[in-house]
Amino acid sequence: MSNLNLELNGVSYAYEEGAKRLQILKDADLVVKQGELVALVAPSGAGKSTLLHLGGLLERPQEGEVTICGKATSSLSDRERTRMRRSTVGFVYQFHHLLPEFTAVENVAIPQMIAGKSSRDAQRHAQSLLEALGVGPRGSHRPSELSGGEQQRVAIARAAANSPNLILADEPTGNLDPDTSNLVFDALLVLIKEHKSSALIATHDHDLARRADRIVTLKNGKISKMEL
Ligand code: ADP
Repeated sequence: MSNLNLELNGVSYAYEEGAKRLQILKDADLVVKQGELVALVAPSGAGKSTLLHLGGLLERPQEGEVTICGKATSSLSDRERTRMRRSTVGFVYQFHHLLPEFTAVENVAIPQMIAGKSSRDAQRHAQSLLEALGVGPRGSHRPSELSGGEQQRVAIARAAANSPNLILADEPTGNLDPDTSNLVFDALLVLIKEHKSSALIATHDHDLARRADRIVTLKNGKISKMEL
């Protein structure tokens, strides 16, 4: 199996609105290797979310190829893409999107049960993930009873629940204070390094970005290396 968890080769993507065309990516390339955490730093509106959606197979590029764990995706059907997304990609958003009527453990267990695990096994794995992220004692609480940092760590546990090869995070610490952001970022790092997965994380936070293995930016439709 390839040790490149995400590859974008010659990817172009534009939004069309009537006669207007907004070119977000133009012949762009990117590689994220196994075990690697790559930070994506670019101004608001540059196309970070769009890039994450392309990498997570939520959108198809107009040109180029998105390859996940060595498997090219452009010729796959929507159904095959959905299956691949569920088995290999975990998303973390700026706002946690946890289900309010379920506990933290249940929120992390549900995607595993959808993937076919028994409730008992799913809950056990959920609890161990929450413990690894330092929120084990909060497992029986609902999201409204958790702090912002705790909610985000539960959201990370949920994204990691089915052991994805690739975690895509869109400003996961965007609404947190610096200390809590650090905790949440630490949690992501632990997961990626321990599970040998990989992550592409869009962030505005330069201090956090510097802790990534590599920083990239988006400019004039290209993805390029960035130093901070
Ligand atoms: P970022 O995540 O870096 O803030 P986005 O990927 O959300 O950037 O958006 C990039 C640009 O594309 C922005 O100018 C945004 O307004 C535009 N855009 C995003 N989604 C759509 C859409 N569905 N239709 C048209 N334009 C869009």
